[in-house]
Amino acid sequence: MRNKKVCIIYTGGTIGMVNTENGFAPKKGYLPEVLSRIDDLHHESMPAWDIIEFEPLLDSSNVAFEQWNQIGHAIADNYSEYDGFVVLHGTDTMAYTASALSFMLEGLSKPVVITGSQIPLSEIRSDGRDNLITSVIIAGQGTVREVCLYFGSKLIRGNCATKSSADGLIAFDSPNFPYLAEVGIDIKYNLPHLMEAADEELRLIELKQTSIGVLKIFPGIQFSLFEKIMTESLKGIVLEGFGAGNIPSTDQSLLHIIEKAFSHGTIVTVCSQCHSGTVKLGAYETSSALTKAGAVSGYSMTTEAAVAKLYYLFSKGYERDRIKELMEENLRGELLK
Ligand code: ASP
Repeated sequence: MRNKKVCIIYTGGTIGMVNTENGFAPKKGYLPEVLSRIDDLHHESMPAWDIIEFEPLLDSSNVAFEQWNQIGHAIADNYSEYDGFVVLHGTDTMAYTASALSFMLEGLSKPVVITGSQIPLSEIRSDGRDNLITSVIIAGQGTVREVCLYFGSKLIRGNCATKSSADGLIAFDSPNFPYLAEVGIDIKYNLPHLMEAADEELRLIELKQTSIGVLKIFPGIQFSLFEKIMTESLKGIVLEGFGAGNIPSTDQSLLHIIEKAFSHGTIVTVCSQCHSGTVKLGAYETSSALTKAGAVSGYSMTTEAAVAKLYYLFSKGYERDRIKELMEENLRGELLK
């Protein structure tokens, strides 16, 4: 694969961290130096690669829309030079970044593989080595031509991924969509489930600061406490309901709050607290009122994908009714109805 070229974009995260007196933290220049010493990365069957190191390197808890734009630019500005891209990122918000990139990179027709590790490369038993080497191979092969996340032998559609373990080496899951590939002795792609490559030019949509909230419903929730937050200054809310999108119906105040928020232009998207399955508004009395109050269904979308999609649609400057429609449409494989 020496004739293929992959760009590694290093944003931070555990993979390149070293132990400091305040715990693990990224160190400038450390990861490129480690990669230069991993023989497999220089093997003739590997693609050629370059590395771009971000400044500052971040723990992904500090990644937000500005860094999504920075990653998007690193890909768009170097797009014609490379066959694929690997983004090294912390695991904590990796699923949000993967979701955001899937929307921002319109017309994408090359692999963008986001990965990282639970154990730093600087420690023994690091999972970073396989995650990185396999991601570079996947990016060089060009079989997937969408934003995906590789971790613990699984290749997952980026906007269907969710972090499912704080300490396991198989840290991500794809609860509502089959894996794009499973990696053992061979990389076995799930060809019928891969996205068609777009037959267009790449366009990067930069994201803007957008006031979004996530509200998880729980038994005994006092909705009146949330009235002060759900005002016209909030553009979008992801409401994590029970099961198929249900909320308690004995206290009508949430519906009034949602109606009021909706009349102010806030988009209320209902996702499920369940790890897998889909929202079916109207299946129960406890959810049908939500539709009447103006909420939309997130169907099988993860909260991560719903948050990123709200950022994207508001940054595109669509009218409220169009955003409502598009939240319920499948734009990049992020939802099944
Ligand atoms: N806190 C780290 C981060 O998200 C965790 C990791 O990378 O695994 O940057």
